[in-house]
Amino acid sequence: MDQHGTQTAHPTDTRATNQHIDNVERTHCCIIGAGPAGSVLALLLARRGIPVILLEAHEDFEREFRGDTIHPSVMEIMDEIGLSDRLLQLSHAKVHTLTAQTDEGPVTIGDFGRLKTRYPFITIVPQSRFLEFVTAEAKRYPHFRLVMGASARELIEENGVICGIRYLRQEIWHEVRSLLTVGADGRFSHIRHLAGLPSIKSSPPMDVLWFRLPRRQDDPEGLVGVFRRGRILVLIDRSDYWQVGYVFSKGGYQQLRTAGVEALQLSIAEVMPRFSDRMENLKDWSQVSLLSVESDRLTRWYRPGLLLIGDAAHVMSPVGGVGINYAIQDAVVAANVLAGPLRTEQLRPQHLATVQRRRVWPTRIIQAFQTLVQRRVITAALDADTRFVLPPLLRLFLRLPILRNVPARLIGLGVWRVHVKE
Ligand SMILES: Cc1cc2nc3c(=O)[nH]c(=O)nc-3n(C[C@H](O)[C@H](O)[C@H](O)COP(=O)(O)OP(=O)(O)OC[C@H]3O[C@@H](n4cnc5c(N)ncnc54)[C@H](O)[C@@H]3O)c2cc1C
Repeated sequence: MDQHGTQTAHPTDTRATNQHIDNVERTHCCIIGAGPAGSVLALLLARRGIPVILLEAHEDFEREFRGDTIHPSVMEIMDEIGLSDRLLQLSHAKVHTLTAQTDEGPVTIGDFGRLKTRYPFITIVPQSRFLEFVTAEAKRYPHFRLVMGASARELIEENGVICGIRYLRQEIWHEVRSLLTVGADGRFSHIRHLAGLPSIKSSPPMDVLWFRLPRRQDDPEGLVGVFRRGRILVLIDRSDYWQVGYVFSKGGYQQLRTAGVEALQLSIAEVMPRFSDRMENLKDWSQVSLLSVESDRLTRWYRPGLLLIGDAAHVMSPVGGVGINYAIQDAVVAANVLAGPLRTEQLRPQHLATVQRRRVWPTRIIQAFQTLVQRRVITAALDADTRFVLPPLLRLFLRLPILRNVPARLIGLGVWRVHVKE
């Protein structure tokens, strides 16, 4: 993948199969992908004394095209392992509410202050800092190893069991033999493809342009969604700048490109007039990344010796910005279930099935919620011919004391909480 998150074809290398490989390592768990899911799983297993190798294709964690939110549930998890105070020492912003600006005025979609948690806010930290923090913590354990620039290419399968991975680093093939291989390699998962695991797809109606704009002192704070004239802007407050998501109907990208960057500037300024004074900062398309919105979920998350978690198991729609939260919760459940069998070297497929069973329902529920919002809100909001108003049922939902906390709860804490088992 390049820095914009688009999938890059693997260069045509000589296949390692049938070649002698000198660099062979053995470990209990080999994790592919040092994103939120892979890094947190590696840390949790390392803390429990399990030998772990974590492979990351990139040489560093610096990537523009990522979510930067740490939800209340993730802060609770960090608290359980004694890291929340140090995490909050990283430079961050706190978001207490999710607000939608509509033609009828602002509507609070979620108020994290109402949740019963020690951390009633979303913490915005660049994901690169968060991953550096988590992997630095894992490095304190001598049986943990992080290999950057290591691109996993081939699964090693013997008698129907996955027993390791071959990866390329600086054009040299390496092999890791492990009791368990975990594919945490994100939305373009190569491991999912190699394992031949089937998925169920849904069709989100939108794509997103992703770019930065300067933030001024008197700008609003927090996470803001602006719904106007057939367009949606999502604004994420990153203290000194806005991370902007410009949401448009799926398939409309070529039309936007043809209309030119000036038309895009104009369109953004129409939706958010206070940005008129800074649109000259968006000069050309190199500053803009396209997020082709997908959503799917594997019907089976494992094979003997292999487990997939995070986006590799379920690509999340950006609705609600929950991908990191759910990926990390997968990691916690996987560590809880698998640390024992890994330590005693008694790992069985039913342990992997347990991880899937515990995580598939929260995934199904949040994806059903996202699909509902896409159908009832996003599709209507992207229709340029009608004035957008929030559906009356949703307004009522957000007013009823018993229901109004549901979106904040689903986004902030997940369908149900997960806790780190020591
Ligand atoms: C533009 C954008 C904005 C987003 N905003 C938000 C947000 O605000 N909040 C939120 O919660 N979620 C957001 N998301 C979604 C969120 O980033 C993902 O759901 C989350 O990162 C998934 O974590 P993961 O660890 O499963 O996968 P990833 O974060 O994708 O990590 C996978 C890792 O695997 C590595 N990798 C891939 N292939 C290989 C290989 N062959 N060998 C070795 N390593 C490999 C990759 O380099 C990457 O580091 C956003 C996503 C995008 C694209």
